Amino acid sequence: MAPIARRIVEAGPITVAEFMRLALSEPGTGYYATRDPLGAKGDFVTAPEISQMFGEMLGLWCVDFWERLGGPASFLLVELGPGRGTLMADALRAARVRPEFRRALRLHLVEISRPLRAAQAEALASFDPVWHDDLSTLPAGPTILLANEFLDALPVHQFQMTEAGWRERGVAADGEALAWTLLPPGESLALLRPEHQTAKPGDIAEVSPAVRAIGATLGARLARDAGAALFIDYGPARSGLGESLQALRGHRAADPLRDAGEADLTTHVDFAAVAAAGRDAGVKVFGPVEQGAFLRILGIEQRAAMLAAKAAPPDRAAIAAALHRLIAPSQMGSLFKVLALASPDTTELAGFA
Ligand code: SAH
Repeated sequence: MAPIARRIVEAGPITVAEFMRLALSEPGTGYYATRDPLGAKGDFVTAPEISQMFGEMLGLWCVDFWERLGGPASFLLVELGPGRGTLMADALRAARVRPEFRRALRLHLVEISRPLRAAQAEALASFDPVWHDDLSTLPAGPTILLANEFLDALPVHQFQMTEAGWRERGVAADGEALAWTLLPPGESLALLRPEHQTAKPGDIAEVSPAVRAIGATLGARLARDAGAALFIDYGPARSGLGESLQALRGHRAADPLRDAGEADLTTHVDFAAVAAAGRDAGVKVFGPVEQGAFLRILGIEQRAAMLAAKAAPPDRAAIAAALHRLIAPSQMGSLFKVLALASPDTTELAGFA
């Protein structure tokens, strides 16, 4: 029996949030804790793995923001969940336009996966990164933070409206297999918010204290130290009802219960919750805006044209295809959103028209 199933058989039903935590990040059993899931041979592909242009645009965004900060001689460049280090390597190559930026940055990476830390160490060796398990050990100071497809992997609680009111969903053992269940009513129902009030029996609500905590922690930091945090992920611009938990294995939809620990689990990110946590902490919120619009404002089409002009004809087609995938509304352009939290005196940020 898989370790997660054994644990549930022995200890009884758990919440969907605890299930996600065990299946994704628990040392020993978690999907991310134990492997490199990215790329053609892995389970899914992310924007930086589609094209170097994605990381390059974010690198220019960081340089632009650093200049808005007055070009501090020392600052933290932080990435949450850096994957293979591809985004940051592309960003730092693009940042060569400002050697002072490269000299001022101290690179900090928040990553739980040992295999991915090894890949990051290789991709970013010349920047001498410092790794962290979470945000709590980051030193103070001016900060520019990037997080692409990080929030979508954090645990969510799921609630289902029944004829008798809200109940939290959980995962229980059914013989040797796992099955969805409804847990006895408990304190967790307090996580539900006003926008869930319209629910009818059968409706599902997802709430992620972990996502909100990231917004609150960074909000508190940016209220104190100058800086900005840029999140790119997929999800709706407004919070609402609906289930979005999905499993991906080998680029195909998988069964979250049967493939626990062997498949990627993600949910749509509740950007409004990140924004609310930031506002509560007193920082400015920019967006969410659509990824396609954001990248276009930063000049991704001009960059694609430059790369195409230098490329051989077959590579030109690949550059055009990658650009389409990143910005077309039918691809990643609309579903993916960009949200920034920035210190209170920030008046403008590149990319947010
Ligand atoms: N940003 C990369 C990788 C996205 S996959 C890209 O765009 O390609 C999610 C990343 O977050 C992986 O690096 C994964 O190991 C990391 N991760 C997932 N859950 C985490 C957690 N709770 N704490 C820190 N890192 C986590």
